[in-house]
Amino acid sequence: MRDAFYARIDQTLADIREQGLEKIERQITSPQGPEIDVAHNGKTVRVLNFCANNYLGLADNRALVEAAKATMDDYGYGMASVRFICGTTDLHRRLERDIADFLGYEDSILFAACFDANGGVFEPLLTAEDAIISDTLNHASIIDGVRLCKARRYRFANSDMGDLQTQLRKADADGARTKLIVTDGVFSMDGYIARLDEICRLADQYSALVLVDDAHATGFMGPGGKGTPAHCGVAERVDILTGTLGKAMGGGMGGFVCASKNVVHLLRNRARPYLFSNALTPALLGAALKTFELIRDGDALRAQLFRNAERFRAQMAEAGFELLPGEHPIIPVMIYDAKKAAEMAAALMDEGVYVTAFSYPVVPKGQARIRTQMCAAHTDEHVDRAVTAFAKVGKELAII
Ligand SMILES: *Cc1c(COP(=O)(O)O)cnc(C)c1O
Repeated sequence: MRDAFYARIDQTLADIREQGLEKIERQITSPQGPEIDVAHNGKTVRVLNFCANNYLGLADNRALVEAAKATMDDYGYGMASVRFICGTTDLHRRLERDIADFLGYEDSILFAACFDANGGVFEPLLTAEDAIISDTLNHASIIDGVRLCKARRYRFANSDMGDLQTQLRKADADGARTKLIVTDGVFSMDGYIARLDEICRLADQYSALVLVDDAHATGFMGPGGKGTPAHCGVAERVDILTGTLGKAMGGGMGGFVCASKNVVHLLRNRARPYLFSNALTPALLGAALKTFELIRDGDALRAQLFRNAERFRAQMAEAGFELLPGEHPIIPVMIYDAKKAAEMAAALMDEGVYVTAFSYPVVPKGQARIRTQMCAAHTDEHVDRAVTAFAKVGKELAII
């Protein structure tokens, strides 16, 4: 019986490999940044990095490193406790207040990651009498969190407001007590922004609550970097916001839920990933508190990020590449063919540009792409060098 188990594992891995879906992890030997050292073909190469979620370039920021060190000096290394036993410091509460104030909510609650925030947010708030209406392209952690909750599930086609309305009506017809619309603020494979203004209008019309996962937006999208709800002019209307400290906000670790005071208090009492998992460490808290200072004064960083995105977009279009339209610093370069996309990413690595190809099942079949992500720390020279490499490889592979 045990042999059969291990044989099955081997077969599954062989299938993954055969379908060209095996993930290989390149090893980085420098700090995360716009240029990184990566092990490649038996040596270390310095390459441009166009695939990190390091939108504001804070991952190697000296002030954050120093804040993490100083906080460790004062508070030590580990917490060795969940929050409610003996794992809450004044820093945890300060950070929760900072997050809530920055994003305009009464309170917030920290989790080990946004994956845990989404995994834990639904089950305590809704029961079998309620309805969750979720965008089909929502992040895996939302899908898992919704599965763990007893509420009835309704799905609407990605950003399809007609379908959302249909599902809201269905939930009403089924007698839902509370309806919660759930969407990513930004759909990360496309860089598309959720139509939050229309979603909130429908939410008003059908008396529904709205939850937005703003992982790919907090800190840089919208006025003051306050995210997609602010970008769409509906910051006041979004009831619950989940987010991460692991992307633009320094790229460390930690997730959060922002909501009303009592919703947050109920989550503290009932959310399982919060109750049964270790508290965030002092180093993370110290750096995260510093991040919020930088973000509050971050207009220059945000402007640079969007200038880089414009420069890359304009030059890539000029070179003849097909890009998905949009305003987000995620810029997908459409290749369509999965094998070609993988070849392209490999060839770009040889040219000193680190990017990743995405194909089925992460994106629909025949929609393979290279997803590039801009960073405020990219210089004009970085952007130009990347475009030159793309153009060279694109011609070699007959993509342009
Ligand atoms: C990255 C991401 C997450 C997970 O965030 P972590 O803090 O890394 O767990 C959740 N939701 C969305 C939409 C994401 O893009």
